[in-house]
Amino acid sequence: MTQSCQGGREPQVPVRVVDPRSELVVDTHELVRHAGQSKQVRRVASAPDGLGVAMIGVPPGSPVALDLRIEAVVEGVLVTGTAQVKLAGSCARCLDLVESEDSIAIQELYCYPDKELDDPDASRLEGDLIDLEPLLRDLVVIDLPFTPKCRPDCAGLCPSCGANLNRDPDHDHGADADPRWAALAGLDVGSGTPDDVADNNEE
Ligand SMILES: [Zn+2]
Ligand SMILES: [Zn+2]
Repeated sequence: MTQSCQGGREPQVPVRVVDPRSELVVDTHELVRHAGQSKQVRRVASAPDGLGVAMIGVPPGSPVALDLRIEAVVEGVLVTGTAQVKLAGSCARCLDLVESEDSIAIQELYCYPDKELDDPDASRLEGDLIDLEPLLRDLVVIDLPFTPKCRPDCAGLCPSCGANLNRDPDHDHGADADPRWAALAGLDVGSGTPDDVADNNEE
């Protein structure tokens, strides 16, 4: 979150070309240089690729519901609001599909292009355009659960055979477990395709 056009964040932003047709690009031409003017932007964009990390993220093409207030201030344009996204990934314990939603709080100042910046990393207007994608990318990753779980008390997998203990709470090998069979069952789970997860979804 950048509250000022000065300040010290680590440089990170490779130059990208802003596509005015992108659903994550907001045109501010009617506001710029009119401090105090504002407008509301409510729209549903589709998620770009690579929003998230390997284990969990926003499915590409899924709806991103933006509800934003765009306000011209002296140094640039201030964007505040939320982005509602869907998340999908794998439970860190049992590898089942994890689906949830996340409401990402947005508060970012986009400085005017001609404003001299002490901080080369402060967000900038591109002409009259605001590109929300880089911001969204950063905020989504910060907001992701560190270890996604299908439910808070997920029982995980049987350490011997890999059976899902959520579906089979009384699972027990007793004294006569066959280690050859255990190895096979373990392989099966390793392929990790969550195809029967409907009963395990979390809101
Ligand atoms: Zn789980
Ligand atoms: Zn087992």
